[in-house]
Amino acid sequence: MFELLKDKIEDVVRNIKKTGKIREENITEALKKIKMALLESDVNYRVVKSFLENMKKKAIGTEVLKSVTPSQQFIKIVHDEIIELIKTDISIPKILPLNRLNRIILCGLNGSGKTTTAVKLAKYFKSNKTLIIACDVYRPAAVDQLIQLGKKNNIDIFSLPKEKDPNAILKKGIAHAEKNNYNLIICDTAGRFEINKELMDELKKIDKVCEPDYNILVTDAMTGQLIVDVVTKFKEYINIHSVILSKFDSDTKGGVALSLKFLTNTDIAFLGTGENVKDLEYYNAERIAKRILGMGDIVGFVEKTEEMLEKSDLEKMNKKFNVKEFDLISFLDQLRTVQKSGMMNNIMEHLPVKLPVKNLNMSPKDFGHIEAIILSMTGKEREDADMIDLSRKLRIAKGSGRPLEEVTRLLKQFKEMKKTFKKFQKMDKKSLMSHPMFKQFM
Ligand code: GDP
Repeated sequence: MFELLKDKIEDVVRNIKKTGKIREENITEALKKIKMALLESDVNYRVVKSFLENMKKKAIGTEVLKSVTPSQQFIKIVHDEIIELIKTDISIPKILPLNRLNRIILCGLNGSGKTTTAVKLAKYFKSNKTLIIACDVYRPAAVDQLIQLGKKNNIDIFSLPKEKDPNAILKKGIAHAEKNNYNLIICDTAGRFEINKELMDELKKIDKVCEPDYNILVTDAMTGQLIVDVVTKFKEYINIHSVILSKFDSDTKGGVALSLKFLTNTDIAFLGTGENVKDLEYYNAERIAKRILGMGDIVGFVEKTEEMLEKSDLEKMNKKFNVKEFDLISFLDQLRTVQKSGMMNNIMEHLPVKLPVKNLNMSPKDFGHIEAIILSMTGKEREDADMIDLSRKLRIAKGSGRPLEEVTRLLKQFKEMKKTFKKFQKMDKKSLMSHPMFKQFM
């Protein structure tokens, strides 16, 4: 999802980082690249146009805050604009009332993923007692598929194999649900190969009988821009509350998720992210924006970092990140500060050089082990890790109660980190200094 868009936006930001300023000429260049990236990601042209106009207005009109770099400011503007484009107004609540019968209709084209999604939804609303009513009378396999999926996942299915009228099944299903204290029904309707009037009229009748709280259109994300036509056509017949984009896991471009709201004024409620019944994700515009940018909300991150790291920690960090005195005790100090702020993975993501360690947000237990190993070293060993030979390692392992491999691994990590910090020193000081995290470290 969004791989292409994410790569391209990262590229744009890297270029702004190089130039260090948001000026009209580099904005124009950046916006051109973003435009291409959006179009290649299958975002509708009208959406791209409006998106870029808004971006331009904001980017040029914005005073760059003192505490953040221009590239971060730019990311924040892209982030806010994406959210503006895709935020939902009337979402389905995460928990449905338990004191009444909630009603959901699932409709959509054949193969869009309705049947699978019906079971996914029943699983999602697990606090509700749910009955899926099998109203797809045209594809007998659909009912069998539902019955099997229901059995496998402990979801009750209502079906009348001999009944050919979907409304008769629905009426009886609702009566059964009311009598047996269900508080959610999900009505799986017949799929359509295309939007045919006869079938749409039938859907209209189902809608009338069901009186749904939510009438949800399930669409296959891989259909791309055609989804816009499907949503528009369905809306001519019935009131579509929201859309579930299924197979979102298979859609690397993701453009339709960005176009749908703007073009059809319809919200996305959930994303189907796999074939498994657990693969249903509650739609969240912020999360999508973060996924596209792949960098999180950098401005929020800077604010949070500043807030979380107390001044004394920052001072300590400044001092200790000086490579000349970067020894095992400095290393431990860094880890302590990181433990306290819990921010290292975020920080690492934004460093201009990649650190050799994958995850520094370790559990308190793992941190305790590292601390035990370092504290079992002599002062000299902590200052000069190179002097730690095998016999010293064995002594440290014994003293800390940790296996020898763990001592070796820690020393290796430390040495790699020291090497990385040496690289920072060699880097162009100006661009390093412009990085807020590094303003603090250098
Ligand atoms: P229906 O004809 O609309 O009822 O569609 P089905 O529920 O039978 O789904 C059609 C196919 O899409 C099946 O093979 C499902 O396993 C698959 N499918 C449904 N949702 C998803 C999803 O979110 N991701 C992936 N990868 N496959 C899905």
